Amino acid sequence: MSDLHPDTRAVHVPRPSLDGSTPIATPIYQTSGFAFDDPAVFADGMTRPDGAFVYGRLTNPTVRALEDAVAGLEGGVSAVAAGSGMGAINCVLLGLLTPGDHLIAQRALYGGTASMIADLAHRFGVEVTYVDQDDPAAVRAAVRPRTRLLYLETIANPMTQVADLPGMCAAAREAGLVSVVDNTFASPVLCRPLEHGADIVVHSVTKYLSGHSDVLGGVAVFADEALRRRVWSFAIELGATLDPFAAWLTLRGVQTLPLRMARHCENTRVLATRLDEHPAVTAVHWPGLPSHPSHALAAKLLPDFGGVFSFDLAGGRAAGERFMAALELALLAPSLGGVETLVLHPATTSHRAQTPEELARSGIGEGTVRVAVGIEHAEDLWADFTQALRRTETP
Ligand SMILES: *Cc1c(COP(=O)(O)O)cnc(C)c1O
Repeated sequence: MSDLHPDTRAVHVPRPSLDGSTPIATPIYQTSGFAFDDPAVFADGMTRPDGAFVYGRLTNPTVRALEDAVAGLEGGVSAVAAGSGMGAINCVLLGLLTPGDHLIAQRALYGGTASMIADLAHRFGVEVTYVDQDDPAAVRAAVRPRTRLLYLETIANPMTQVADLPGMCAAAREAGLVSVVDNTFASPVLCRPLEHGADIVVHSVTKYLSGHSDVLGGVAVFADEALRRRVWSFAIELGATLDPFAAWLTLRGVQTLPLRMARHCENTRVLATRLDEHPAVTAVHWPGLPSHPSHALAAKLLPDFGGVFSFDLAGGRAAGERFMAALELALLAPSLGGVETLVLHPATTSHRAQTPEELARSGIGEGTVRVAVGIEHAEDLWADFTQALRRTETP
C-alpha cells in the first residue's frame, strides 16, 4: 500500500526480514562489523550504500531501518543517518561544497548551522549570501556562477518564521541549485519539503523524531539517489556515524510521532492564544496567530503550526529571569521536541553569539522567552505559566 497516512506509515516502519519470520520491533544490531562467505559480496558492500552490511561506519541494519523509516515519512528515496543533527547538516554541506563555491542561506538559522556556515567561509572559502526565507526574488538576484546550494528551515528558531518552500525551491531549481531544508521544527507530520521542490531534507532527530529527550542523532533524506551517494561517501569519511542504540530509540519514537505532534500543536495553541491576551505579555510569536508575519504562508503550507513559540514579556530581561525561575512544571533547558515543556532565554543562551544589532533584526528582545511545548495537559501548563507570570510583576 503506497498511499498511507503519516500515522500509519510511522507505525509500520520497514522491518528487517529473517528466514521465515520478521521481528515486530527492529533488533539492535550491536556489532561493529559483519563477516562474509563470499569476497565479492564483501567488496560490493564497500562501494555502494545498498550493498551488503560490512562495517558500522558505513551503515548498520538498525540504522538502515531508521533511515528507511524517515525516508518513507518524508517521501524521499533514501537517507543517511548521523550521530547528531549537526553531523547530518555537515555531511550535506561539506559533502556537496568545495572551496570557492557559493551558498545562499536564509538569515534566520539554527545557531549551530549559522556558526558552521560562518566557519565554512573562514576555513574553506565557501561564500555565503543571506536572504529572507520568503523572498524568491532575492534568491534569483543572489545566484552566481559558483552558487551550488540553497539552505532553508521550514520553521525557524525562535521567532518561528515559515519559509516559502515552493517559491524558494522553485527559484533554486531554475538556477540549478540543490535545495536543502532543515525540517526539524515541523517534522514530516506538518511538512514534507520534498513535495514542495526541495532536494534534501535534514533533521535533528534529537528533537521530535525521537521525542523523549534521550537521544542525539541526525538524518538527511534525499529526493535523488545520486545526491545520497555523494553525501554517503563523505559521511563515511567524516565518521559522523549514528550509534545503533540511538537509532533504535529513535525508531521507537518515530512510531508515536504523529500522536505526539498533534498534542504539541494543540497545547501550543492553548498557551499562545491565552498569552497573547495576557497583560504581562507584549507579543507572541507563533505562526498559528493571525498577527504573525508568516501566518498566511503557514496556513497554506502546514496543517498545523508546530510546538515551539516565543513571547515577549513587558518587564524585559528582569521579568524574563523571574518568570523562568518561577516555573514549577516547565523546565529551564535547551532543546525541544521531547514530551516535557522546556523554556529558555534566547538572548543569553541559544542566541548569545549574536550582536545586539543582529538580535534586534531577528526580533529577539531581552524579555523574549522561547517555549518548546510538551505533551502534558494544557491546563496544567497554563496554571504553571499564569502563576509564574504573576510572580514576574512582584519583584
Ligand atoms: C537542534 C537542531 C539542530 C542540531 O541538531 P543536534 O542534534 O543538536 O546536532 C539543527 N537544526 C535545528 C533546527 C535544531 O533544532
